[in-house]
Amino acid sequence: MEDLEELYQEIILSHNRSPHNEGRLDPRTGEAEGFNPLCGDQLTVHVREGGDGRLDAVRFTGQGCAISRASASIMTQAVQALPRAEVDRRIAEALEMLTGREEPEIDLDKLGELAALAGVRQFPARIKCATLAWHALAAALKGRDRVTTEEG
Ligand code: ZN
Repeated sequence: MEDLEELYQEIILSHNRSPHNEGRLDPRTGEAEGFNPLCGDQLTVHVREGGDGRLDAVRFTGQGCAISRASASIMTQAVQALPRAEVDRRIAEALEMLTGREEPEIDLDKLGELAALAGVRQFPARIKCATLAWHALAAALKGRDRVTTEEG
């Protein structure tokens, strides 16, 4: 288990240092600002949905702690270019992995770097840092422009 924890930390730190898909997206079909008042993380997610029902591109901007930024970076990689239904499924899976009652089964082969986020479960105060980007993505896809981690 110790090795896994080191892996989690390494992945989080590396995404925080050099995040993927950070920046504004133009043109875009949606955007939502997410706020986590517990930590002060504030991230905006931009999305561009294609005519074929795929999520062509997703990017994020804003300020937050290492976990929130790493989660946003990993999120953009996990959902980019997927059909919308698959994106919705990934969002649900990620939120379940982070906040579900059951300790998640981590399949590194299947989850890849997404698995790193599950390491956050050991630090309950930081879980909302990790869910923030996913909530913001869901809001942007639903046409909402704002969301906080304190909503149901
Ligand atoms: Zn945070």
